[in-house]
Amino acid sequence: MRFLVQKFGGTSVATPELRNKVADRVLEAVNEGFHPVVVVSAIGRLGDPYATDSLLSLAREIDGQLPGREQDLLLSCGEIISAVLMAATLRRRGLDAFSLTGAQAGIITNGNHTDARILRVEPRSILNAAAEGRIAVVAGFQGTSEDGEITTLGRGGSDTTAAALGVALDAVAIDIYTDVDGVMAADPRIVGDARPLEKVTYNEICQLAQEGAKVIHPRAVEIAMQKNIPLRVRSTFSDSPGTLITSHAEVFPGAIDITADRLVTGITYIRNISQITVPVTGRESAAAVFSALGEAGISVDLINVHPDVVVFTVRETVAEQAVSILESLGLQPSVRPDCAKVAAVGAAMTGVPGVMARIVSTLAAENITILQSSDSYTTIWVLVPGQDMERAIRALYRAFHLGDG
Ligand code: ADP
Ligand code: MG
Repeated sequence: MRFLVQKFGGTSVATPELRNKVADRVLEAVNEGFHPVVVVSAIGRLGDPYATDSLLSLAREIDGQLPGREQDLLLSCGEIISAVLMAATLRRRGLDAFSLTGAQAGIITNGNHTDARILRVEPRSILNAAAEGRIAVVAGFQGTSEDGEITTLGRGGSDTTAAALGVALDAVAIDIYTDVDGVMAADPRIVGDARPLEKVTYNEICQLAQEGAKVIHPRAVEIAMQKNIPLRVRSTFSDSPGTLITSHAEVFPGAIDITADRLVTGITYIRNISQITVPVTGRESAAAVFSALGEAGISVDLINVHPDVVVFTVRETVAEQAVSILESLGLQPSVRPDCAKVAAVGAAMTGVPGVMARIVSTLAAENITILQSSDSYTTIWVLVPGQDMERAIRALYRAFHLGDG
């Protein structure tokens, strides 16, 4: 059977009209000879009654910090409601559709509540139904642990559900439908005229996603990559072909020379970062900084260690905690709040001279201060004041000609 997994995000299933658009996409797949397996997110965004954040805020009125197990049970309802409504919409349009919870769809996870990992998929119910021509609509973002507890998969979890089902069913492709035309070289909310990339490799998209591009979750990409199942990111609302995510050879046919790749694939960002500077008086005190933060489970980033000072970044939400830990060690940290990490990501950046130079001169021309920087084989990061972030992204997008297609 030629399975096609079709995942629809929260904005795609928010209203009856939109759910009919989704049904159009499912009917198209049927008409093209595929057997669709539909995965849905919860309906809408915060403020919509059954959106993930709305459910959470309901509980927060009673208990600021629900136990993970309880939170998972609550949140799983959002996707279940969405799946039932979507299946009903499809039946209305003449398809023999029915809904499944993650557990019923055979999504087996570990027991790590609120951020569980999928261990395996047992797609029996989907396969049995498919043999009778019935179309499953699966509640995304959720699964069950071995002992029958409902779990959720963390941010972007419905993408992960779709990818895992795609692999388990050996699908022809996994289509991630969303509210933009595809993966762009920068967030279209910031670069208004950004256009979708036609093709990208799994690796490129993994890096973009890890550095903050929220259009697809990196875990989903990693799963699809294991069996080389193509992913497509497309719009529910337009006929744009979207972005094909596939292996290197298919994106760059005949290209063995890595310099033939794109230098920079995209510009991404992570907001709400604090930069912490800690004067130190020797090797022991520098080491103490990182072991104390590590013990507290605070992850640090953009680390620069100098003989007399240590500089690094943390998420704004843990900055206060980090400072009090450091003060308890007798250190005197200073904090610069409201920074943003902007990253230029590209598979072929390795060893190409001049990329950093171009970034520095571009930001200088914009009068944007680089507070810190770092680089790897594939990524150059700069930390900038939060208020300058959007300008930095737009300037870098132009400097690397990412709008040229
Ligand atoms: P869904 O609810 O469909 O899962 P998400 O909000 O998770 O949708 O992802 C889609 C959003 O990702 C878009 O609205 C867009 O603003 C954002 N986004 C961030 N970076 C990019 C990028 N590089 N390309 C496309 N979209 C991006
Ligand atoms: Mg998403």
